Amino acid sequence: MIPGPIEFEPSVLRAAGSATNSHVAPDFIETFGHSLDMMKEVWQCPSGQPFVLAGSGTLAMDTAAANLIERGDQALVISTGYFGDRFADILARYGAVVKVLKSPVGGVVDTDLIEAELKINQYKLLTFTHVDTSTAVKVDPRPIGQLGKKYGVITILDGVCSVAGEEIRQEEWGIDVVLTASQKAIGVPPGLALLVVSPKAMNVWKNRTSPVGSYYSDWTNWLLIMNAYADRKPSYFGTPAVNLVAALEVSLQLILKEGLEARFARHKNTGAAFRSGLKALNIKQIPLSDEIASNTLSAPWFPDGIQNQNFLSSVSANGVILAGGLLPEIKGKYFRIGHMGSVNQGDILSTMGAIEAGLASCGYSFTKGAGINAAFASLNAF
Ligand SMILES: *Cc1c(COP(=O)(O)O)cnc(C)c1O
Repeated sequence: MIPGPIEFEPSVLRAAGSATNSHVAPDFIETFGHSLDMMKEVWQCPSGQPFVLAGSGTLAMDTAAANLIERGDQALVISTGYFGDRFADILARYGAVVKVLKSPVGGVVDTDLIEAELKINQYKLLTFTHVDTSTAVKVDPRPIGQLGKKYGVITILDGVCSVAGEEIRQEEWGIDVVLTASQKAIGVPPGLALLVVSPKAMNVWKNRTSPVGSYYSDWTNWLLIMNAYADRKPSYFGTPAVNLVAALEVSLQLILKEGLEARFARHKNTGAAFRSGLKALNIKQIPLSDEIASNTLSAPWFPDGIQNQNFLSSVSANGVILAGGLLPEIKGKYFRIGHMGSVNQGDILSTMGAIEAGLASCGYSFTKGAGINAAFASLNAF
């Protein structure tokens, strides 16, 4: 139950473990093309250009920056934690002049503040993190998409911890780039960087006057390949991660079979169940309110006197693996529970049970069973 790599469906793992195909074999071409088609459905961006590259989520961020930034461009980063700060570093590496609007720990940046900033400076693009995995803070993409349209700024959503878990309607909401990695809510072992890019952002890229600063990431190389697979034709630039693409096809099929609305609702119920369970144990969470708390992971503060390592090893001895803190300024003071992908009621209740056992072994005083009961009641209220 960590926020990635998550638990994978057996059929996804079987696809990943099947014999490695040629990247130009007709059935692999169909697998790749079908995956690209399904990405547009899952992202809800019918006019978008999907990219599938071998690499992690950081490569997806790097690719967006490399292709959309030219030296001296102004970029605005809305940071709600660790991954916002990382985007600022990446953009600067490609020559952007970066301004960071940083939220307080557990909070979001006010939309008015973002708009005020867009009024005084001519930004080329802005980035924000849908769910920051270091804080479990969720940002509402809708007002940011509207600001992007109003001020002619390209909007980039880091959805590594949200795509296929939290509601995203890329095209309707006017978000230009939505990117993720395979090992989180998409449910495929680590190794794929996935992006869908709007026609507006593709045009900005086409009108560049300088070459893209990364040879591997350059869309000049990959667009032809993605188009070829979409047209079910063989092509080659760099060998795709054949086994992972096979797994991606299976996972996207499972996601669409469950249905996007049902999947978003299931994640909402899961997030609410963990919030209820933790509240019943008197444990506070990093997000300052439930409205901005993510449904794909939870980030609870440790109660006073509880030590990171003792707690996590005790939870693990009770059969559940959780993650420690990530945000440098508060690292040892909180832990993280990943609950995206194929998490069911049994997983939620056994996780709450292991958390209770961990708290008890650390000497925390609470009513035994309160967390499990509250989580169960929350799940069955829906
Ligand atoms: C995990 C994560 C990343 C980085 O992805 P990697 O695959 O670890 O490179 C970026 N942004 C967010 C929001 C993430 O959760």
